[in-house]
Amino acid sequence: MGLAILHCRAQIGVDAPSVTIEVFLSGGLPTFNIVGLAETAVRESKDRVRGAILSSNFDFPQERITVNLGPADMKKTGGRFDLPIGLGILAASRQIPDVALHGYEFYGELGLDGNLRAVPGVLPAAIKAASAGRPIFVPKDNGPEAALAGGQVLVAESLLDVTALLRSRKEPLPFVSLTAATQNHDSQSDLKDVKGQTFAKRALEIAAAGGHNLLFIGPPGTGKSMLAQRMPGLLPTLDDEQAIEVASIDSVLGLPVDVSRWGRRPFRAPHHTASAVALVGGGSEPRPGEISRAHRGVLFLDELPEFSRSVLEVLREPMERGRITISRARRQADFPASFQLIAAMNPCPCGYLGDKQSNCRCSAEAVRRYRGKISGPLLDRIDIHIEVNRPAVALLRPDAPCGEPSAAVAARVASARQKQVFRSGKTNATLSGAELNRDYVANDESLALLEKAANAIPLSARAYQRVQRVARTIADLAGEADVQVKHVAEALSLRQLDRKIAKP
Ligand SMILES: [Zn+2]
Repeated sequence: MGLAILHCRAQIGVDAPSVTIEVFLSGGLPTFNIVGLAETAVRESKDRVRGAILSSNFDFPQERITVNLGPADMKKTGGRFDLPIGLGILAASRQIPDVALHGYEFYGELGLDGNLRAVPGVLPAAIKAASAGRPIFVPKDNGPEAALAGGQVLVAESLLDVTALLRSRKEPLPFVSLTAATQNHDSQSDLKDVKGQTFAKRALEIAAAGGHNLLFIGPPGTGKSMLAQRMPGLLPTLDDEQAIEVASIDSVLGLPVDVSRWGRRPFRAPHHTASAVALVGGGSEPRPGEISRAHRGVLFLDELPEFSRSVLEVLREPMERGRITISRARRQADFPASFQLIAAMNPCPCGYLGDKQSNCRCSAEAVRRYRGKISGPLLDRIDIHIEVNRPAVALLRPDAPCGEPSAAVAARVASARQKQVFRSGKTNATLSGAELNRDYVANDESLALLEKAANAIPLSARAYQRVQRVARTIADLAGEADVQVKHVAEALSLRQLDRKIAKP
C-alpha cells in the first residue's frame, strides 16, 4: 500500500492548467491503470514508464498500480506526464526517499532507457509554475525555454538524474538572462539597403507608427517583399512579457526557443498555397498556425489574390479580436494572433499594368476581376494601399546613395507610438469609432479637405474612417496635436484602391 501525489500541467492552447497525479499502490494481481481522460499518448506512457524504471535499476512494483490524472474532465495528451508518473510509482513503493514531491512540478517524456526527452509547451507551464512558486523539473533540452519564465528550474537528462537531484537538493539552474536581447533589427534586412522607393518607405514608416495594415500593389521585381521584410525592424522591441507570449507559441509547437532572437518581432510569410489550417491553426490536437506565429509581429501575404478566398475569409476573426479560437469535436483552444498584416499583389493578372518597361495586355475587365478576388471585408481592414513602381535604374547602381537606416526610422516610429499609447492606450489602427472621434482633433481646413475628397472619390464610410486613422498617425509622426491639411492629403494618397482603375 502506498500513495504519492505530484504536480504537472496540461496544455490547452497557450494555457497550462494544473494537473494532479495520484499514484496508488495496493495488493492484488499486478495491474497498471491510468485513469482521468488520458489520450493515447498518455496511455502508452505505461510501457515507457515501466521500461525506464527497470533500466534505471529500480524495481517495478508487482502490485495493483492506479494512476489518476485530475481533474478528470480535462483531456491530457502527450508524453509530459511520464516523469511524474514514474516518480510517483517510485515514491509510492518507497524506492525514493519521501521528499516533498508535491512541492515541485515535473515534466518530461521517458525513453525505455530511462532518458528524458524534451516535450512541447514547457514555457507556458513554467510561467504558471513560477507564479505558483513551485520549482520545476524539466528535460535538459527544455531548460533554456523554462528558465525564461523566471521561476526556479532544475534540468535533468534521465530519471536517475531526477532522483539524484531530489536526494541532493541541488541548487536550481541560474536563470537565462532576458537582457541578453539583441537589437530588434538584424543587419541582414535594413531599410538602408532598399534604394529609391521613397514613397513606399514612407508608407512603411506610417504603417509601423500607427499599427496599420498595408497592401503594396506593383509589378514583380519592384522590391515589395524586400520592403515588407524590413517592417519588424521598424517596430519597437518587445518587452519581456510580450517576448514570452511570442516564445510560448514556439514552445507549444515544440520548436526550440531562440534566446538570441529575444525581443525581436516575428515575421511570417506563408505561401499562397497554404491551407486554412496552416494559416490560422487547427488539427485534432489544436496547434497554432502562421497567424499565431506572427503574433506581435508581421504576417506577410505575398500575391494576395492567389490565396483562396476561403483561406482569407478565416483571417477576419483574428484581425478583429487579436486572438483565434480553434474548436474541434470536444476540444477548444485559444491562441493569441495579434499581427500586423502586410500584403502584396500585382496590379493586374499579367503583373505589368502601369510598368514603363513592359506592356500590359490585360483588359480593364480582367483587372477588375483580379482585384475583386480580395474580399471586401479583408480590404476593409487594410488602412494603407499604395502602388510600388520600379525604381529608376540610376538609383539601383552600386554607387547610388544608401537610404536612411532602419534604426533612424524606428526612433520616429517609437516616438509616434508613445504619443498614441499616452493618449488612448493603443495604436491608431485599433481605435474604435468613438475613440477615433475623440482623438481626431482637426482644424477646419483639414476637415473641409476630407469632406471634399470623400464626395469626389467617393469614399465609403469605412474608407473615410481609415483615412482619418492614417491622418492621425501622420500627425503623430510629425509631432502635431491637430490633424492638418497636409496630413489628410498624405493619408488620401495612401488609399490607391479607393480610386478607379486607370487603364492607359
Ligand atoms: Zn496586365
